[in-house]
Amino acid sequence: AFPLAGRRVFVAGPHGMVGSAIVRRLARVECEVLTAGRTECDLRDPAAVTEFFARTRPDAVFLAAAVVGGIHANAAYPVDFLHDNLMIAASVIGAAHRAGVAKLMFLGSSCIYPKHAPQPMTEDALLTGPLEPTNEPYAIAKIAGIKLCDAYRRQYGADFVSVMPTNLYGRGDNYHPENAHVPAALIRRFDAAKRDGAESVTVWGTGTPLREFLCADDLADACVFLMERQSWAGPLNIGTGDEVSIADFARTVAEVVGYDGRIAFDTSRPDGAPRKRLDVSRLTALGWRPRISLREGLAAAYADYLAGGGRYR
Ligand code: GDP
Repeated sequence: AFPLAGRRVFVAGPHGMVGSAIVRRLARVECEVLTAGRTECDLRDPAAVTEFFARTRPDAVFLAAAVVGGIHANAAYPVDFLHDNLMIAASVIGAAHRAGVAKLMFLGSSCIYPKHAPQPMTEDALLTGPLEPTNEPYAIAKIAGIKLCDAYRRQYGADFVSVMPTNLYGRGDNYHPENAHVPAALIRRFDAAKRDGAESVTVWGTGTPLREFLCADDLADACVFLMERQSWAGPLNIGTGDEVSIADFARTVAEVVGYDGRIAFDTSRPDGAPRKRLDVSRLTALGWRPRISLREGLAAAYADYLAGGGRYR
């Protein structure tokens, strides 16, 4: 066991949707939370990160910093997704090792698994086939991060672990109209349509892809649960085990927002992976379950959006 109480805990990426959820969850633990904004420490810069770790001496690290974005952003900015995420992983994991950090958790993504992995996707599907091309740059960087944690574990006995969350949504999401993931994109679009009294809202793709959605606050709870109790090599899936079609998901967002017009599908936009449900049996066997329903979580995300809690990069 690795109780966080009494420790210095560095959350990398504290202003993002995931990092901010981890910071909120850690407020319920008697630990000292360390954060650094982009201007204080550029996590892509190994020297800056090494200096930051030497100065702040964290005991534990949640590595939730990443360049993230939806299906369009990945296609438009492959250098940011591959290069910046590789550099963040290498800089932070390396600096953590040199500074003697006792435990580090690297956050990846379900897109690390092959496009045609058997569903639901188990952890051992990693590197068994080609990736979904629409998020390959991000996936390659995340796979390298997992392997780097495993390498430090094998070569130096470091307690560095990796978790793979399913598709996420929640407070503090990015609402950029083109670059956002589907939950934030649709919250914004349905909200605007409701205000404008629009008769129709366009959803990308065919509406048939299946996705599994987890609230960032549930993810944060799972991360703290696992950090305190478990140690493992390779990826460990975090999800709900449920999946929903994009069309049904869009209808749920419309209901939560209170938009009652038509929903149209723009099939000139990509669908991405047809399906990517995680097998969460390892996580369930360890005793963790999500608590926040999709409707409840989306309502909280929408309230946060209305209150100006989102970002627009
Ligand atoms: P993915 O899970 O990596 O494909 O990430 P996304 O969250 O970007 O997309 C999930 C699914 O939602 C894909 O099938 C998209 O085509 C679909 N989708 C529908 N409308 C939108 C939208 O407005 N923005 C995004 N990003 N995806 C959308």
